[in-house]
Amino acid sequence: MTDERNEITLHGIAASPGIVYGRAYVFTKHTPRIEERAVTADEAEQEIARMEGAVERSEKELQKILRFTEEKVGSQKAKIFEAQIMILMDTVLFDAVRRRIRKELKSAESIVHKEISKYQQMMLKSPDEYMRERAHDVEDVKNRLIRNIQQDRLISRFDSKSIVISELLTPADTVLFSRNDVLAYATDMGGTTSHAALLSRSLKIPSVVGLKEVTKHVQQGDWVLVDGYAGTVVVHPTRETVSRLNKKKREHRQFEERLVQIRDLSAQTTDGKDVRLSGNIEFSQEFRYLSQQGAHGIGLYRTEGIFLRSDGYPSEQAQYQEYKTIVEKAKPYKVVMRTLDIGGDKVVAETHEEENPFLGWRGIRISLDKPEVFRTQLRAMLRASAHGDVGIMLPMISGIKEIRRAKEHIAAAKEELRAEGTPFDETVKLGVMIEVPAAAVLAGDIAQEVDFLSIGTNDLIQYLIAVDRGNETVSSLYQEFHPAVIKTIHHIIKEGHRHGRPVSMCGEMAGDPVATLLLLGLGLDEFSVAPVVLPEIKKIIRSVSYRETEEIARHVLEMKTEEDIKDFLRVNLHSMVPELLLE
Ligand code: PEP
Ligand code: MG
Repeated sequence: MTDERNEITLHGIAASPGIVYGRAYVFTKHTPRIEERAVTADEAEQEIARMEGAVERSEKELQKILRFTEEKVGSQKAKIFEAQIMILMDTVLFDAVRRRIRKELKSAESIVHKEISKYQQMMLKSPDEYMRERAHDVEDVKNRLIRNIQQDRLISRFDSKSIVISELLTPADTVLFSRNDVLAYATDMGGTTSHAALLSRSLKIPSVVGLKEVTKHVQQGDWVLVDGYAGTVVVHPTRETVSRLNKKKREHRQFEERLVQIRDLSAQTTDGKDVRLSGNIEFSQEFRYLSQQGAHGIGLYRTEGIFLRSDGYPSEQAQYQEYKTIVEKAKPYKVVMRTLDIGGDKVVAETHEEENPFLGWRGIRISLDKPEVFRTQLRAMLRASAHGDVGIMLPMISGIKEIRRAKEHIAAAKEELRAEGTPFDETVKLGVMIEVPAAAVLAGDIAQEVDFLSIGTNDLIQYLIAVDRGNETVSSLYQEFHPAVIKTIHHIIKEGHRHGRPVSMCGEMAGDPVATLLLLGLGLDEFSVAPVVLPEIKKIIRSVSYRETEEIARHVLEMKTEEDIKDFLRVNLHSMVPELLLE
C-alpha cells in the first residue's frame, strides 16, 4: 500500500543499515502534552494503576540520583532529592489524585498535573522563602511523574511494527523500543557515532539520524520508507520509489548471502597477511549473530548495558554470570572487556547533569573515583577470565597516572582473589583505549605500560577536531578522513609496534569499508567492528594485497583534505573490490 500525497525525501546520516517501509509512530518526548482525556470507569482503574507504577518508578529513579549525588557531592546537597522522594510518599496527595480520577473520569496525567499544580501554587504564595523555593522541587517531581505515566501508556499502545520518528532518542529509548520489534528509527538529531546509533546497529534496527526536520514532515501513521544504507527517509513514497528501494533491498540481500561463503575463512590478504577481525557487542544475546557473521572473538565488549539495565550498580555475581556467559560462548577466541564507560551521552538523563558531559565525569574517571564499583567490576572480569581468553581494557585514559592507578586496583583485586582461592587467569592482558588526544600523543609511553592498544575513533575524532559526535549541526566537520585523524592513527600504530604491542581499532571507522584499505596499509592488527558490517570488511581484506594497501596508505598520508582522501580511497576500493555495493 502506498500513500501518494507529495513524496518528500529527507537526507540524514546513515546510522544503521537496512531498508524498511511502514507506518510512522511519532514519539514526542521533550514537551509532554497533558491530554485531558476522558476515560471510562474501567479505564479509570487502569489510569490509577499507571499512576501508581509511575510513582514507584519515579521513586526508584530518585533513589538512584540521591545515592549518586551523596557519593559525588555529599549528603547536604543531596537533600533536595530526599525532599522530592518525600513528595512521592505523600499519601494525602495521591489519595486525592485517586479520588479525582475516579470521580472526574479523566486521564491520570491530567489529574496529577492539576493536583500537584494546586500544591505548587500554595507553596508559591507562601510568605516563607524556603517554601517558595521548594515549589521548584514539586515541579520536578510533577514532570518526572507525568513522563513516567506517559511512558507507560506509550509502551502499552505502541504498535510494534512501526517506524519510530523522534527528535532525539537516548540509548535507553533505543533499547526500550527494540523490545517491541520496532521496524526502524528516524530522528532529527544525532550523529552516526552517538551511542543510540551504535545501539541500533547492534540491535540490527535500520536507522537514520540527523534528519533535522523529520518530525516536522511526518504525522502519526504516515507511510514512510527508511533507507539506512543511504541515510534517507522518504515520506509518502510513490509506488515507483517503493519498488526502486525494494530492488535495492534485494540486491543487498543477495550480496549479503554471497558473503556467507567466506564466513568461516580467516581475514587474510591475498599476499598472506593475517589480521584479526572481531566484533563489538554490548549484550550477551548479540553473540549468536556475531558468530554467524564470522567474527573471530570480541574486540570490544561494552559493559555499560548491564549497568544501564539494573537499578543501582549490578552485583559482582550478576556481572560475573554475564561476563562468563560471553567468555564461554566466544571460546576459543578472545573477549576484550571494557570497564565501565558511562558518562558522555550514556548516562541515563536523570542520573547526573553536567555542562559538558563529554568533557566531564566519564569512563575511567568515574571508576577511579568510585573504587568499590571499579573493584567489583574488576573482580567479576577476573573471575570470568578463568573460563576463557579475556583482555581487560580501560576507557577514556588521558595519561599514565590513570593507568598506574587502575593497575593498582587490578593488582589488589587479584590479590583478594588469590587469598580467597578463587580462580582467575594470572596472565590476563591489559589494554587501553586510545580515544583522548593526550593518550594518542603519549601512545609510545602508554604502550610500555600495557599489553595492547585499541583506537576508539568515535571519541578520538570528536576530541581531536573538537566536534560533538552526536551533534548533527556540526556533523559535516566530524570527519573520519581528516588528515589529522589519519596522521594520529598512523602515529598510534607506529608507536604501539615500536614497543611490540598489537594495535586494534574498535571505533566505527574500523567498520567503514572506505577506510579498510587505508587501515590495513597503516598496519592495523585488529579490526573490531559492528557485527552487521563484518562480512563486508572480511570480503575487502581477502580481496586485496597488503603491499598494495601500504602504497595506498603512504599516498594518503601525503594528502591534504578529507575530500581528496575519501575520493582516492573510494576509487581504489571500487577497482580492487568491484562487487561491493557502495553508496
Ligand atoms: C570509541 O570511542 O571509538 C569507542 C569505541 O567507544 P564508545 O563508542 O563506546 O565511546
Ligand atoms: Mg569511546
